[in-house]
Amino acid sequence: MTDLSIGALLYEGKAKRVYATDRSDVVAVEYKDDATAFNALKKAQLAGKGALNCRISALLFEQLEARGVPTHYLGVRDSLWMLVRPVRVIPLEVVVRNTAAGSLCKQMPIEPGTPLTPPLLDFYYKDDAFGDPLLSEARLERLALVTPAQLEQIRDLALRINDELRRLLAQVGLELVDFKVELGFSDDGELLLADEISPDTCRLWDRAVSDSRARILDKDRFRQDLGGVVEAYGEVLKRVQGVCPEPRLYR
Ligand code: UDP
Repeated sequence: MTDLSIGALLYEGKAKRVYATDRSDVVAVEYKDDATAFNALKKAQLAGKGALNCRISALLFEQLEARGVPTHYLGVRDSLWMLVRPVRVIPLEVVVRNTAAGSLCKQMPIEPGTPLTPPLLDFYYKDDAFGDPLLSEARLERLALVTPAQLEQIRDLALRINDELRRLLAQVGLELVDFKVELGFSDDGELLLADEISPDTCRLWDRAVSDSRARILDKDRFRQDLGGVVEAYGEVLKRVQGVCPEPRLYR
């Protein structure tokens, strides 16, 4: 166990709380059991979800880091807490899609399950007050959240994360349909993968199952009232542990 002490609450999101610590170069993230969907119109408490997402995220961050992806992750403290580097998170939801699903199929004529080659990259403006809208290239430029060079860096990093994550998850029988990442800049200006990578933020299908509902192992089980949400997340953890059993403790 680390002797680091937790300080003031800095930010509370829908699924996590972020706290200062007694070290200026470390912040603590607490994963909550709260589940929300449809811009928080649908809410529930799912006992065990926080611990599962914390562990899945930690293992995936470690695996990505081992493959050269820079992340904010430092280590876990116990089942619900993760220590990370402080970053200035860019208010963009960067979505990479390998297979058509979700909002894409509601917004254009494409059948769910259609392979997307090359992967499709979508940017959304992360602001609940505006309903996290999909951005056009022109609007992205107009918002001026990042420079054109940084935008290129963001695109490259998101696609690299996709390549690595997709390969890794395929090894344990999971299809990475799509996912959302948030990226941020560290104090020294390095672009880092931040936030979390979990079944809350990825669509994951069991490659061995053909039934279009039974194969879902992610938050769509909650969105679509399919039941077995925590069990599905548990299955994802079990699979990921096949590659790397335990996350490192932060000391
Ligand atoms: N996603 C997310 N947070 C959001 C919106 C989307 O983590 O606020 C993830 C979602 O779980 C999926 C991917 O991003 O893996 C693409 O989501 P989509 O645009 O299809 O939206 P949805 O169908 O969730 O409304």
